[in-house]
Amino acid sequence: MKKISIYIIFVLISTMCFICLGCESSNKDKNLYKTKIGNIIVWNIMDSKTEESTDIFKGDDKLVKETYPNGKYTSYVNFFVVKTPRSINLIDTGLGNIDMKTTLSSVGVTPDEIDSVYITHIHPETVGGLIKEDKAVFPNSKIYVSFSEDEYILGKKDDDPNKILYKKIEKIYGKKITNFRSDAEDSRNPITSIASYGHTGGHTLYRIESKNEILYILGGIFTDLNLQTKNPKISSTTDDDQERATSARQDILDLIESEEYPTKCTGTHFPFPGIAKIEKVKNGEYKYTLEQ
Ligand SMILES: [Zn+2]
Repeated sequence: MKKISIYIIFVLISTMCFICLGCESSNKDKNLYKTKIGNIIVWNIMDSKTEESTDIFKGDDKLVKETYPNGKYTSYVNFFVVKTPRSINLIDTGLGNIDMKTTLSSVGVTPDEIDSVYITHIHPETVGGLIKEDKAVFPNSKIYVSFSEDEYILGKKDDDPNKILYKKIEKIYGKKITNFRSDAEDSRNPITSIASYGHTGGHTLYRIESKNEILYILGGIFTDLNLQTKNPKISSTTDDDQERATSARQDILDLIESEEYPTKCTGTHFPFPGIAKIEKVKNGEYKYTLEQ
């Protein structure tokens, strides 16, 4: 397996944050789901759910047709609130389709209280929620974008829509955008990053560990969990480099398999409620079970 290095991201915010557990919504809300990893609370927030064409999937037409005979699959966009004992963080921000203030109040936080936003990659479905009407939605947050993703996006042509979006975000957040190395190692903090290039050139995964429990937040590495666990070699045209994305997907499945403690995973496009256990069925084939 290709070596994937893990890097703990910085000392999390020094201020102790009051977490209003009494204000939280229940798990019954249609776009919110709460899970716990040790003493860390993670909320999956579903930003959107749409029917899309399966034409984007390449590599196993037979399986695609068998799984989705009408040529449509359900595409989800999720992002995550991660409450550690010391800080309140977001992993990505969704498209910005939902009212952020109202949604976050359902999980007991306000946009002003978000200490850090960790970005997996620069696509509209992960950074769209950072801004609204050309203003910062999270004025007090640091926005973490890996050096490699920053370089990759800024290296694109000036008319690339993702570069235009990122430059707009950079202008609005200024020095609050913090770049970090996703491929260096450390091991002190509960949120770690993993370089996993392919979906974009600097795509970054996050791993959360607390009290012998683990959660991987896999960004855009799975476009459709159903197809790509049955056959991880199925690629998607939404991957900038389909070959590299396929190899990154296989690497992460191996990494999850090798974990010593109970391990869950989730991702930008995981089907709601979005928290899954992935197990190997046989070589090259996996299955997932959603937490309910
Ligand atoms: Zn993406």
